[in-house]
Amino acid sequence: MAGTVLVTGGTGYIAGELIKQLLARGWTIHTTVRSKAKSETALFERFGQPGDRLKVFEAELMSDTGWAEANAGCTHVAHVASPLSSRTPKDENDMIVPAREGTLRALRFAKAAGVKRFVQTSSIAAVAYGRKGKEYTVTEADWTNVDDPNVTPYAKSKTIAERAAREWVAAEGGDLEFVSVNPVLVLGPVDSGDFSPSVEPVKLLLNGSVPRAPDIGFGVVDTRDVADLHVRCLEQPSLAGERFIAAGKFMKMIDVADALRAGMGPSNTRKVPRKTMPAWMASMFMLINPGFRSIKNEIGKVRHSDASHAEKVLGWKTRPVEESIVDCGRSLIEHGVVKV
Ligand code: NAP
Repeated sequence: MAGTVLVTGGTGYIAGELIKQLLARGWTIHTTVRSKAKSETALFERFGQPGDRLKVFEAELMSDTGWAEANAGCTHVAHVASPLSSRTPKDENDMIVPAREGTLRALRFAKAAGVKRFVQTSSIAAVAYGRKGKEYTVTEADWTNVDDPNVTPYAKSKTIAERAAREWVAAEGGDLEFVSVNPVLVLGPVDSGDFSPSVEPVKLLLNGSVPRAPDIGFGVVDTRDVADLHVRCLEQPSLAGERFIAAGKFMKMIDVADALRAGMGPSNTRKVPRKTMPAWMASMFMLINPGFRSIKNEIGKVRHSDASHAEKVLGWKTRPVEESIVDCGRSLIEHGVVKV
C-alpha cells in the first residue's frame, strides 16, 4: 500500500530513516521542517532528489502557519517532531508546551485534511517513569506518573502530549485512527554530524568523556527498526487506539562500553571505560558537571520494556542491540563527531 504521507520533523534522526523507508515502499512524502532555507537542499541530497515524491513544507509546532499546506492530499501522518535535548531546560514548559500543542495542532490539521491514520512517535518516557522500585518491566498498559518529582521535563512532555492526543481523538477525532509508537533509547547509524541527543551515551563512551561508565542504563532499539515499526503502523489496517512499545534489551552503560569494544576493535575504543563508576565518583562528577545531575535518580535503576505486543500484532522485531550500538559508534567516527 502506498499513498501520500506527512512525516513531521524531516530533519530528525528517526524521521530521516522513516522517510527513506517510506520512499523505498513507493509512498509520496510531505515533510515539515522549521526552515526550508536551511534544510530543503540537504533533504533532497540525502534522498536522491526523488522528484515529486518528496515535498518540503515549513511548519513550527507552535504556529498554525504551513500545516494546512503540509497536510493537503495526505491520507496518513507520522507525527515525529517534538522537542528533544541533551540538557534539561530551566523551564519545563519549554518542552511540555511545544510537545503538547504541536501534537494537538498536527491532529487538528490532519483531521481537517481528511487524514485516516495518525501515528504519533511517543516514547518509553510516556510509559516507564515515576515509579518506585529498582528493577521492573513495563508494558503498553503503563503510564509515567508525571506527579513524581523525579520525572524529567522530557518524560513529562511525552506523557502529557500522548495523553492529550488520545483524549482529543476520543472527543473530536471522528474517524481518524490514532496509533502511538513508544521507543526506548534509539541507536543505530547517524547520517551526518547533526544527530539526535539519543546517541550521546555512545559518543561520551567513545570519546573518553567519562573515566568510568556511570551505573545507569536504558533499553536500546535500532533507528531502522523504529522506522520499520512506524511503517507497519501506517500500513496495517485496524489499529485504531493501539500503542506499541519499540524495545530491545536493557543495557547498562558498561554493557554498551563492552559492546563497543567487542564490535569496533581496540584502536577505535582506546578511551572507552572498562569499569563502572562507583557511587562516590558519580557524586563528584555531578558536583563538577551539572549535566550529570539529571542522571542522579537513574543510578542503579533497571527498566525492562516488553515489546511482545508489536511482535504479536505487527510481526515486528528489532535486531540485536549490539549491532545498533556498533553501527552508531562507527557512524559517529565516520562523520567526525568522535575522534578516537
Ligand atoms: P531529533 O533528531 O532531535 O529530531 C527531532 C525533530 O523534531 C527535528 O526534526 C526537530 O527540528 C523537530 N522539532 C523539535 N522542536 C520543534 C518545533 N518546536 N517545531 C518544529 N519542529 C521541531 O530527535 P529524534 O531522536 O529523531 O526524535 C524524534 C521523535 O522520537 C521525538 O518525538 C522523540 O521524542 C521521539 N523519541 C526519540 C527517542 C530517541 O531515543 N531518539 C526515543 C523515544 C522517542 P529541528 O531539526 O529544526 O530542530
